[in-house]
Formats: sequence, structure tokens, C-alpha cells
Amino acid sequence: MQLTFLGAAREVTGSCYFVETDAVRFLVDCGMFQGGREADGKNRQAFDFDCRRVDFVLLTHAHIDHSGLLPRFVALGFRGPVYTTPATADLLHVMLPDSAHIQEKEAEWANYQRRARGAKVRRETAPLYTVAQAQSSLKRLRPAEYDEEVRPHRTVRCRFRDAGHILGSAVIEVWVSEGGRSRKLVFSGDLGQPGHPIVRDPVAIAEADLLLVESTYGNRMHKSMEDTLSELAFAVNDTVRRKGGNVIVPAFAVGRTQDILYLLTELMRQGRIEKDLDIYVDSPMATSATELTVKHREIVDAESRALLDRNRNNGGYPRIRFTEDVEDSMAINDIKSGAIIISASGMCEAGRIKHHLRYNLGRKECTIVITGFQAGGTPRPQAGGRRQGGAHLQGADPGAGRYLHHRRAVRPRRPGRADGVAGPLSPAAAANLCGSRGGRRRPGLCRPGARTPGLGGGGAPAAPDLGDIGARRPRV
Ligand SMILES: [Zn+2]
Repeated sequence: MQLTFLGAAREVTGSCYFVETDAVRFLVDCGMFQGGREADGKNRQAFDFDCRRVDFVLLTHAHIDHSGLLPRFVALGFRGPVYTTPATADLLHVMLPDSAHIQEKEAEWANYQRRARGAKVRRETAPLYTVAQAQSSLKRLRPAEYDEEVRPHRTVRCRFRDAGHILGSAVIEVWVSEGGRSRKLVFSGDLGQPGHPIVRDPVAIAEADLLLVESTYGNRMHKSMEDTLSELAFAVNDTVRRKGGNVIVPAFAVGRTQDILYLLTELMRQGRIEKDLDIYVDSPMATSATELTVKHREIVDAESRALLDRNRNNGGYPRIRFTEDVEDSMAINDIKSGAIIISASGMCEAGRIKHHLRYNLGRKECTIVITGFQAGGTPRPQAGGRRQGGAHLQGADPGAGRYLHHRRAVRPRRPGRADGVAGPLSPAAAANLCGSRGGRRRPGLCRPGARTPGLGGGGAPAAPDLGDIGARRPRV
């Protein structure tokens, strides 16, 4: 048996393992490289082998850094089945076409820029994959329930176990037979923490001959849920009650948005924030992901099911509004105080969040709550000089804390590290962050109605030291 790391080695994104024996070849995950200048080249160079000779794919979860190259893999000739959980399959029906839409827009923009510069263009840049190719890849999905044994090949059986990371996420147990001997491989995918909102706790796996475990935050201690709740309650009360502004929350559409909704509702139930606050979810992808969370309520944890039931008969509270169209989104601009606005993308580099930052970053009575990982190369808020006149930034380094990080002095961070910043933001920095001055703005990225990207958890923090693992083809 031979195992090759095609991605997520010496870096965090692009998760993809290639397993080969004399009888079978398969992939576990098919992730896109994200963040940094080299990502596009790596995505285009991926799969320098005959994709038609791969028998099947197993997917741990829907985040794009684990699933986002599936349309390209299919476009390059793969014709086998793709096994994953039903909730992941549902999420992929939203996320892969959305990712393709972004690829098409990126290519369109690159071609437009070259033409605008008057450069000679021999051949137009093609998108990494198209919406049609993404739709076609979805036909290969074969949903498999948690804990059910699946036999994708006569020499392979596997089982999806709850990883507690996002809706539908799985640790995959794989038994491979070769030469009369069976060996068990376990692929962790991204692992959740016990006690995480919405999803159930990860299932403990008792044994493996070979364990492949993701370790993005393996060197960090997470703060307690109570600390996280207290910090969020403070940010909301201080902004809404004392300063009379809005709270803006950039959040990944799948997973983090639902977590934040859960925490806000929990704080209202405990009476720690006012229950008549208006919460706006302004991201089509986040709306779809939230609908799917409700659809798959059988796999959410008991606390979240109870909360869903309570909210149904709670006199109209909490007031969560999901924007439906561009007009809804633009109407939020008129709200000057008392609103909590959750929007994507979580790293502020695309989607409607840029629009909300543009309207609120320059107002010192507002607070921006950074709830997730901010990769190097994305428009992280940085102090960069004057400290007066802008919104308060409550930052997060999700590796160090669950969502919110303790306040600390604002200072620029070196690229490639997660950022945790707090303090007033200068109007210049605010303008810079949302792309409203100093040069190019991409079409469709700072407008209401721009599509939100299906970016998920990953990001690209400083690469952990993995020795030579990326370069080797280890023999199993
Ligand atoms: Zn993930």
C-alpha cells in the first residue's frame, strides 16, 4: 500500500490523501488550496496523474479546503462515486456551485484587468472550474449514513463517524485488504471539540493501524465556553447599550455563523443580553447552511435541538432575519444602532461583509467582532497609525480562544499569522480594509448582492513543522 499526501502537508489547506494498492486507488478528501499567492497555481497543478484510474473518493466534510477541487477532479476525467454523509452532500450542493461562481468571477476579473492594461492576451484565463462542472461533479455523490458500513470496492470497507466539526463532518475509518491482510486507516478530517455548539461531540475511535490526524490548532489551548460567552455578551452590551452602535460579525457561512446564532440566543435565554435585539444574517450561503442545519436536526446535539424547539414558541424572539435579496441587504445600511449583523466572508476578503464594514468601520460607536481565523494575505484590520475615530475591533485568534480573544494592543502582525486585534480603528485603516480607497476594487465584491464565498474553517496559518512529509511518498 502506498500513501501520498497531495495537500495539507507543510500547510493547512488542500487536504487530499491518495491511497494505492495493487487492486485499488482512491482519494480521501479533495480540498482546494486557499490563501497566499501560490494557491491558484497549486490548484491548477493538482492531480498530475490519470484521474480516470481512481476508483472512488471519500470526503470527510464540506469545507472547501477539503472538498473544493472535486469539480476539477471530475472535469479531469474521474468517473467514480464520491462517498460522504448526507448532510455533507447537501452542503456541497450549495458550496461547490458557489465556489465555481467565484472561480468564474476571478477569471473574468483577471481577463478584464489584462485587457484594461492593454496587455496582449494570447489566451484568456479559464476559471479553475465552472458552475456547470460543479453541478456535474455533484452527480457523483453517494450519501452514506454515520456508523453505517460502506463497501466502495471489494478490498475496501469504510465507516463515517461523527467528527463534531461542522454539520455532516466525519472521521473516516477505512479497512484495506491486501495480500490476505487487512489494515485499518483512520482519517480524522477536521476535528471538533467536545461541548462545541450545534454539532455533537466527536466520536472516540478506539484503534487504528495508521492514524492521519489534522492538527491546525494542535499547539493551542482553547478557552472555555463560559469565557467566550462573557466576551460576546460584553461586546454586545457595550456597543448596543452604552455606545448605541451596531455589532458587525464577519463569520464563515458554514459552521461559524450557526455557532454565533446559537451563542447569541443562549445569551438572550440567560438574560445576559437584551432579547429584543435584531440579528441580521446577510449571506445567502449562511442562510442555506442554517436551513440545512434545521433540516438535519437529527444529527445536531441535544442542547441545540431543545433551543430550536424553544425558539419556535418564544413570542417572536429571538428576532433573527435572513436577508433574501439585494434590497434587504441594502436596507441594513439605514440601521444605525441596536443591530447585530452577521455576514460572510469570515476573512473579510469577499462577500457582503465588505459592504457592512464599509458602512460601520468608520463609526466609533460600532464594534467589529472577529470570530474566526484571518489568514495572511487577507484584508486583516490593522491599526497602522492613528487610533482615533473608528469602530472598535474585538479580535479573535481561534486557535487561542474559541471565538473571541482578550483585548490587547493593536499592532500590525507579520503576514501568515492569525490576527487578534482590538482597539479603535483609524478611518484610513477602515477605508483600506473595505477597499474604498487607494485603488482597485474587484467587481461584485463590495456590492450588496455579491455572492458569498463558500470558504470554510481552514485558512492558512503558519505552516507547522512537519519535516519532509510533504516531499516523501511514505510506504505503508
Ligand atoms: Zn473544516
